[in-house]
Amino acid sequence: MTEYAWLLLLLPVAAASGWLAGRRGGERKGGARVSRLSNTYFRGLNYLLNEQQDKAIEVFLQIAAVDKDTVETQFALGHLFRRRGEVDRAIRLHQSLVARPGLSDEQKTRAVLALGEDYMRAGLLDRAETLFTDLVRVGVQAPQALKHLISIYQAERDWAKAIEHARQYESVSGEPMGRLVAQFHCELAEKARLGGQPEQAREHIFEAYAADSHCVRAGLVEGMLEQSLGNDAAAIRAYERVARHDIEFLPEILEPLLGCYERRGEMARARGFLMEMIEQYPGISPVLELARILQRDEGTRAALEFLAGQLRQRPSVRGEAAYIELSLKDPDNDPAATLRTLRHITEQLLVRTPGYRCQRCGFGTRAHHWQCPGCKSWGSVKPVHGAVTE
Ligand SMILES: [Zn+2]
Repeated sequence: MTEYAWLLLLLPVAAASGWLAGRRGGERKGGARVSRLSNTYFRGLNYLLNEQQDKAIEVFLQIAAVDKDTVETQFALGHLFRRRGEVDRAIRLHQSLVARPGLSDEQKTRAVLALGEDYMRAGLLDRAETLFTDLVRVGVQAPQALKHLISIYQAERDWAKAIEHARQYESVSGEPMGRLVAQFHCELAEKARLGGQPEQAREHIFEAYAADSHCVRAGLVEGMLEQSLGNDAAAIRAYERVARHDIEFLPEILEPLLGCYERRGEMARARGFLMEMIEQYPGISPVLELARILQRDEGTRAALEFLAGQLRQRPSVRGEAAYIELSLKDPDNDPAATLRTLRHITEQLLVRTPGYRCQRCGFGTRAHHWQCPGCKSWGSVKPVHGAVTE
């Protein structure tokens, strides 16, 4: 439920007041009572909207006292108690609602659901699980109860049950749950991998891909598993798949993947893959790895030329450090040329570094502003220490 959607729960109270007012028409006494009630109701609503929950509770307790039959007021109070963290009070209220005779089926279900939510809030997961499982069995409010059950099984790290209920939720609600199910299978795969059960781990990796064909985590677990079993070819496929599905994970797989290529002597494939990644990935990691391979296979000069060309397009401090390191190892090093390259890279880096930063919101700028362009506060933008901009 969104922040205020639950306020709609209270609307029937106001509507009932209006209906009574209409029906009683000329009856002065009844009309007065009703208008007092709906005035009280709107006062309570105002307190709620102003986040004055103490006063709201007071008002709704008054309404509940006058209007003992209004179940909706009880629901509203229960909700307020829980929101304020008074879970014990909410539990007592919802328990008495559940036990109350004469409730409609719909009201009874809502009361059970609310009680289950109280139990969850109180950390009484077993009790909550029992209530929600009953609701699912009866088939009412199943999607919401299933959703709660999924969170309970996640908290208990019972992944098999979490998968089962996520699938059930998917078929009841139509909402796709594949990405979540894939994560749960990865949890099981990881557990099997660490427990020395590779076949089980493979099964769960397969299931994870079946649930979400772009699951990055399944590829990572598969890569680690196959690598540890000495199946470098399978590990390479898994790691390459990770990078192609989500390039942001490239730094995570680069080192183990290159180890696999080297053990198999597939250096041409390694170069091809790194070139492909350099095209797509804005960071410096694949550039540094390719420079390392070039240095070993073609010599320091080739690596330096490649690195200098790349650093002109993507200046980076780590790249610059690698460039200096390589230059020191270069027997034919031309110091003046090296310094010119370094000066160019450093200038590029400085252009991108903000000289001033707002102390309040962190906004970085190259020029000084007395009023921060980010948070509009005055005098909060100050020079950054250590950034040489003069
Ligand atoms: Zn600011």
